[in-house]
Amino acid sequence: MVKKISKFDVLINGGGLVGLTTALALQSGGLQVAVIDPLPFETQLTPEFDGRSSAISFANMRMLEALGVKARLQKNINPINEILVSDGRADDGLRAGGPGPMLLHFDRDELDGVGAGEPLGWMVENRYMRLALLAECRDQQGITLFDKTTISDYQFDGQNWQIILKNQRQIVTPLLVGAEGRNSPLRESAAIRTHKWGYNQWGVVATIEHEKPHEGIAHEYFLPTGPFAILPLSGNRSSLVWTEKPDSAQFLQSCDPVFFQAELERRFGSFLGKLTPSGPRWAYPLTLMLVEKYTAEGLVLVGDAAHGMHPIAGQGFNAGIRDAAVLADVLSQTLRNGLSVNDTTALKSYEQRRRFDNTSLLAATDIFVRVFSNDIAPIRHLRGLGMGVVDAIGPLRKFFAKEAGGGIGPLPNLLRGELP
Ligand SMILES: Cc1cc2nc3c(=O)[nH]c(=O)nc-3n(C[C@H](O)[C@H](O)[C@H](O)COP(=O)(O)OP(=O)(O)OC[C@H]3O[C@@H](n4cnc5c(N)ncnc54)[C@H](O)[C@@H]3O)c2cc1C
Repeated sequence: MVKKISKFDVLINGGGLVGLTTALALQSGGLQVAVIDPLPFETQLTPEFDGRSSAISFANMRMLEALGVKARLQKNINPINEILVSDGRADDGLRAGGPGPMLLHFDRDELDGVGAGEPLGWMVENRYMRLALLAECRDQQGITLFDKTTISDYQFDGQNWQIILKNQRQIVTPLLVGAEGRNSPLRESAAIRTHKWGYNQWGVVATIEHEKPHEGIAHEYFLPTGPFAILPLSGNRSSLVWTEKPDSAQFLQSCDPVFFQAELERRFGSFLGKLTPSGPRWAYPLTLMLVEKYTAEGLVLVGDAAHGMHPIAGQGFNAGIRDAAVLADVLSQTLRNGLSVNDTTALKSYEQRRRFDNTSLLAATDIFVRVFSNDIAPIRHLRGLGMGVVDAIGPLRKFFAKEAGGGIGPLPNLLRGELP
């Protein structure tokens, strides 16, 4: 028996990092939003749930500040002041002993214009980000959260969705937002096609405590098996993303700590002093996925439901934050114009604004992964040459630093720190 009927401007299916960010962005634009997720939110906040940390671009952190999330992160965020990119060695296939000959160097002091005075980005552990997003969502009257439930039945009558949840609650809404990650059921049932491929790589993720301070410097070494990233967390801690072939990654995730420590030191080097892995290790398969379209009747996709990319440049969640910012601009303007939020022209405008950014990001990360995950001598030579050119030309380096920081091109209101 159906318990209660509730009406919302938007129902977001999926309360992950992007779903919750989208909820905050839309409610800041005056929309009444509901979010549903099958998992209990408390489970998603446990340290065991997600070992990853995210590099958040400076423009995206500006948006999280405007939405009240940054203030809740407080001592759990760390600025990225510099990024050092170096190549691996060809001799033994391993980058032994820490950063090698530098290929590229980005410095926050080089940011000017929209990024002046900002760090290149911020590092946050995903569990602290979830905690902050959830606390802020819970404080907003315009957001209703339902966990431990899923959609059991839904029908579109041309204006509204009539939705029944597994907990028997009934919801009426003109717009569904698919934010359920890579395997989005709403995307599937709308028959939206995807392009996807795997990289035959997995990312081993761990938090490492070290003796010496990291000074906010992020390191990325390119080893033949893929990138090895050391990303500065709060305190004398770094987040490690170590890319390996699937078998090796699964072995590294569960192997004896002594063996892990030895292999870690061999690659990481001693430039940060004694290393102590802290907490569990995780391993994530790395794939690429892009949808053919972002919208269908009464439906729009955000985050990994629309695009999934290799973490080589730390851009997946960032792209989802930008989806949320643009969707908030588009839908709040649509409401102000007196139109329904499922207006086809409005949804197409969201798609147009996000398609170019996401597709170019995916293409760039895909090329990076292919060029930097191999040990063929001419390719090693060319990539060294290419990065040397970028590093030598100040304006080009500045462009890449700003692009990574999300400060290039026409920015939606929230990315300028303004409400939609
Ligand atoms: C190793 C690694 C490192 C990364 N580092 C970075 C980084 O530094 N910076 C960065 O920007 N990005 C990074 N990323 C990418 C980033 O983690 C993802 O892009 C991001 O987590 C996607 O969030 P999402 O909310 O779209 O999807 P998800 O995190 O997959 O969340 C989906 C949500 O939907 C829910 N759900 C599932 N099924 C249903 C259903 N049927 N109904 C309702 N809800 C459902 C799930 O419970 C979950 O809460 C990294 C990724 C990896 C693998």
